[in-house]
Amino acid sequence: MLSRPSGFISMQQTSKRRSIGKAAKGTTLQPDGGALAGRAGPTSSPCRDGWTFPPPLGNGYPVVPAMRLLYLNHRDRDMIRIEEGRGHRMSQPVGRIDRAFASSLFDALACATRQGRGIVRDTYGAGEQTGFDIVRTAAAQLGLEITIDPIGNMMMTLPGRDRAAPRILIGSHLDSVPQGGNFDGAAGVVAGLCAVAALQAADLVPVCDITVIAIRGEESAWYDVAYIGSAGLFGLLDPACLAVRRFDTGHMLGAAMTAQGLDTSPIQTRRRLIDPASVRAFLELHIEQGPTLVREGLPAAVVTGIRGCQRFRAARCLGAYAHSGAVARPDRRDALAATVALLHHMEQLWWQEEAAGQDLVFTCGELFTDPAMHGPSKVAGETHFVIDLRSLSTETMARMAGEARHAAGRIGDAYRVSFELGDTSYSAPGLMDARLQDALMRRLDRPFDMASGAGHDAVIFAGMGIPTGMIFVRNQNGSHNPDEAMELADFAVGAEALTGLLTDFPI
Ligand SMILES: [Zn+2]
Repeated sequence: MLSRPSGFISMQQTSKRRSIGKAAKGTTLQPDGGALAGRAGPTSSPCRDGWTFPPPLGNGYPVVPAMRLLYLNHRDRDMIRIEEGRGHRMSQPVGRIDRAFASSLFDALACATRQGRGIVRDTYGAGEQTGFDIVRTAAAQLGLEITIDPIGNMMMTLPGRDRAAPRILIGSHLDSVPQGGNFDGAAGVVAGLCAVAALQAADLVPVCDITVIAIRGEESAWYDVAYIGSAGLFGLLDPACLAVRRFDTGHMLGAAMTAQGLDTSPIQTRRRLIDPASVRAFLELHIEQGPTLVREGLPAAVVTGIRGCQRFRAARCLGAYAHSGAVARPDRRDALAATVALLHHMEQLWWQEEAAGQDLVFTCGELFTDPAMHGPSKVAGETHFVIDLRSLSTETMARMAGEARHAAGRIGDAYRVSFELGDTSYSAPGLMDARLQDALMRRLDRPFDMASGAGHDAVIFAGMGIPTGMIFVRNQNGSHNPDEAMELADFAVGAEALTGLLTDFPI
């Protein structure tokens, strides 16, 4: 029998905390849609006047007498389940999320931000703001503490017993690409809300605060600046980004932020908005944006890391234009043939690296000859191309970039052309925390792990030295398009793995 610890939070206190939610300013709740209204299941269309969501799981469940305090996690005592006092509700199984709550949030987001076929939640625009308003309303209904930082990131906190302890952040971004899908980013925020709602429903109080974070501006589609919200959290943004113009309206990023009542000064002064030491871990659920899980027939996967990228953005090969019939091989300086030889060599190296178990992706996504100079009866005298190398390993990318330079010299000599590969751009890989990976793998019925080829906010947190964990959910029809699709059952697998992780946290 465990004794009652100091710092104990009573059920009465938690109930009070859970019932103080208010509707977000500027949003409308249905008259009966207040926090903890005693009804179950989705009851209204989210496309009507306001947004209503089913009450958090646990409302209206049978009342049973109970008198015990149970530590759920005997080792770390991360959670306590409080089941004392007479007339307490029966707790629900820990880790089950409320699918109706999740579904209603996804529906509300889709209804409010769909334009034509696709979703438009423009970075620091009306669409993204609408997403924030909807999520804020849901968080208020859960009774979470809501704060918004100067650049617009929203923190929705389930208080822990020790408010001063480093907290766990769970979330993702709420913006979308133009004509995108409903789940890219938003699924991570909804998963965070579902996880804390499940803890509430099971009457679990965490040791530390658990904060669901809705992050601004992850997509680079609008301003050609990625990770605005998460990089801005840590003072990592170049202040020059505030002058970057939106691709369609031409409005500057800084002006868009100011128009929303936000404060650009932390970006101008590169000021941190949170201390990395105050974050125990960052967790992100995201749809997989490739076909791997569909092909594997799996609902979810644990992410091992987010690949970095080393790219020769403006490579050239210089040879000599010549008559295709009149110039024999010894006299040719064929830039296109040499470029193809180089790319083929890189492709062969990729095969070798894969066979050796190295994580690597090699792509040439652009290869041009000059339309003003090329022709069907000419040897090409010049090419422009891109070499894009991605890996979880900085060393692998560097080795491949070195191979590209070495091979360019050798092949250039053989073809009597010259390559000018130029400098590479570089973004660092972000490795997920091994302890979090292991713990998440144990939460999956069919454990599977994979690297992420796409960038996510998680890479910023990992780069700050914060233990970071990520889970992918199967997604049909690709991503960054209106046909993006995710089954609610698959979402539940990922969200419940996260919820379970919170009850037995390995860090
Ligand atoms: Zn995303």
